[in-house]
Amino acid sequence: MTTIDLPLLPLGRGKDLGAERGVECPGDLPAASDPDLVARAVAAKAALGDRVFVLGHHYQRDEVVQFADVMGDSFKLAKDAAARPEAEFIVFCGVHFMAESADILTSDNQSVILPDLAAGCSMADMARLAQVEDAWDALADAGVVDQVVPITYMNSSADIKAFCGRNGGAVCTSSNADVALEWAFAQKGADTKVLFFPDQHLGRNTAVLKLGYTLEDCIVWNPLLPNGGNTVAQLQAAKVILWKGHCSVHGRFSAEVVDELRATIPDVQILVHPECAHEVVLKADLVGSTEFIINTIEAAPAGSSWAIGTELNLVKRLAAAHPDKTIAFLDKTVCYCSTMNRIDLPHLVWALESLVDGVVVNEIQVDGETERYAKIALQRMLDLPGRSSAD
Ligand code: SF4
Repeated sequence: MTTIDLPLLPLGRGKDLGAERGVECPGDLPAASDPDLVARAVAAKAALGDRVFVLGHHYQRDEVVQFADVMGDSFKLAKDAAARPEAEFIVFCGVHFMAESADILTSDNQSVILPDLAAGCSMADMARLAQVEDAWDALADAGVVDQVVPITYMNSSADIKAFCGRNGGAVCTSSNADVALEWAFAQKGADTKVLFFPDQHLGRNTAVLKLGYTLEDCIVWNPLLPNGGNTVAQLQAAKVILWKGHCSVHGRFSAEVVDELRATIPDVQILVHPECAHEVVLKADLVGSTEFIINTIEAAPAGSSWAIGTELNLVKRLAAAHPDKTIAFLDKTVCYCSTMNRIDLPHLVWALESLVDGVVVNEIQVDGETERYAKIALQRMLDLPGRSSAD
């Protein structure tokens, strides 16, 4: 096993362009205290007209969401961008891997812009290409790699998606992870194994709760340990090899808080995202993607009570939009996606005003080879029957 050198980079400092982790933002940002920020964003957007299309992820701040032409999860937003070929500039208010997916799915004459390059995803960063290739070599040494189908969650970097495209695997979303796993297990007969990354929780929850595998069928691959921390016998026996990654937001929710809220809010229903830990999901009433959570609350009857385990910006917006329902947050502390929240109004104004001045800043460009193989993995997902919306 080789050791992968991963320098620690404080957010917004240092450069690691191949990663989700932050790089410096060039140029002078407007001050956050500037009282004209809203007016400046309105003016810049108006000046650009149809040349710009602003995408806003559901977990984004309100101050940015107000300027989004469309809201959605990562995969929906990438598809929305591809459906707007007349938009020369796609300003993606999300995180780095989402902007990469938009670049892959949009045409070459469209520029995808991430207003703050430090807006990465800690989960995506937990599976680096060199680490995954190292794991693949170890699985070959253990004599099992020919049985393995790699499946990556949408929340992964473009080079990881390309790895799956090159090695007979596919991408999945939190809506179609079960269909993707069923597809994977049909690829190599009864001995098929799935290598699932980067989110161990989505992989475990899907394999156990949707496909009927046992917890013993699943092992965890720790990229920092030889053989992922497993014996060769364990690798040979496993059905699902779960990469040791997690979402820093959804990983915070606990089974104890579920119990506390059930004791304090009468008839509360617990609604969580499948990136939550298995013990939390086991205690929930409903589990599903961001879109599923939104649709569930919209369809819920007046007077119903909910505790929601997903990103706080979204939960606060749902509570504000549905005052006839009791909506609580499934954590005692603040739980924003700190990296996504790096995209604030000053960064958005800076990106839009730069475009007005004819300067394309923070463009996200996936190289042609990576794009070609990532598209293969994405296409395998699109060819799956049924659901395809993302996180
Ligand atoms: S919420 Fe979690 S998975 Fe989504 S962008 Fe933030 S860290 Fe990544």
